Amino acid sequence: MKFYNKSSKLDHVSYDVRGPVLEEADKMVKRGIDIIKLNTGNPAAFGFKAPNEVIDDLITNARHSEGYSDSKGIFSARKAIQQYCQLKGFPNVDIDDIYTGNGVSELITMSMQGLIDNGDEILIPMPDYPLWTAAVTLAGGNAVHYVCDEEAEWYPDIADIKSKITSRTKAIVLINPNNPTGALYPKELLEEIVKVAREHQLIIYSDEIYDRLVMDGLEHISIATLAPDLCVITFNGLSKSHRVAGFRCGWMVISGEKKHVRGYIEGLNMLASMRLCSNVLSQQIIQTALGGYQSVDELLLPGGRIYEQREFITNALNEIPGITAKKPKAAFYIFPKIDTKKFNILDDEKFVLDFLHEKHVLLVHGKGFNMPTPDHFRIVYLPKVDELKMTTDALGDFLQNYRQK
Ligand code: PLP
Repeated sequence: MKFYNKSSKLDHVSYDVRGPVLEEADKMVKRGIDIIKLNTGNPAAFGFKAPNEVIDDLITNARHSEGYSDSKGIFSARKAIQQYCQLKGFPNVDIDDIYTGNGVSELITMSMQGLIDNGDEILIPMPDYPLWTAAVTLAGGNAVHYVCDEEAEWYPDIADIKSKITSRTKAIVLINPNNPTGALYPKELLEEIVKVAREHQLIIYSDEIYDRLVMDGLEHISIATLAPDLCVITFNGLSKSHRVAGFRCGWMVISGEKKHVRGYIEGLNMLASMRLCSNVLSQQIIQTALGGYQSVDELLLPGGRIYEQREFITNALNEIPGITAKKPKAAFYIFPKIDTKKFNILDDEKFVLDFLHEKHVLLVHGKGFNMPTPDHFRIVYLPKVDELKMTTDALGDFLQNYRQK
């Protein structure tokens, strides 16, 4: 009999947000155990509703969305994205520079497949949203992780970035606002990153899916606006801001200088046409979603659900002996640090599994976000405060007697 194994291309690819810890939680659910799942940033699962106008648009347009569209997307969607970019100040964005995708996820994978030759290096933040590392690895590249410094608001460490550039480095990836840390990068820092990219002629990839989920009156600045002379590829979508993660609606925008990336763009066009097009029905909602009133804003102000949940989770975590957590400024994740000496933690996945087994709450371990040390975990703080309180009470209680064996 012939046996089939997974492709060796997948040997070093991992995506732990839905990996072994989720498999274990699902097994427990099958045994009839209720689990609080705080592993994915899926607003609809926690009772956040999509705006009515978006749903109405979807229903109205169903009949006009039966066929394939242009590979890059329908005109009205791309026009709305172009205008969104103009308002933010992106330089040099033509309608043809915009690609819609089945979520940002598809476009991350596509953009790396189109760029990387075996052994090419891509600078990726550490911690990262792990799809970036997975996409680089799957494409045959090396994800070279640069430090984001917890003691400096989780900002990228410029000296570390510089020290990791080699003749094989093709690009730098930014996740701003950041998942998993909730950091938001100020203009001066972005300018420093642009300087480094300029000096080494790197392409900049900026994942900005949380750009409309910023708190405390802060402003999100797209790095594309600071780099008219470089090629910047910016990713965004509606999964989070419009609570429609299931619709798979994302886009990427190539801005700035493109002379030197013509060949790469040809490759991207080829990959876009190979998947024919992205879901046309969800493209139909982009114009309505991006125009006018943004209902997500009220969730982010004092009294709004995401704001209040952030206040609660930050304070409650910091009250647990052995846990410290920087307050996130954007998105809906927090990435606390755990005192590994105090609890003898050598393996953070085991810590998450031990907590899951005892308290029936699912978190994701820091190594799932490519942290080199076992001293972090991520909480999605989308549940209401009473459920978050159950989580932090359970964690405090669990840690009172925890020593990893
Ligand atoms: N980028 C980041 C930073 C994310 O956190 C996520 C989802 O959690 C994605 C991309 C994927 O988004 P999409 O639903 O558009 O595929």
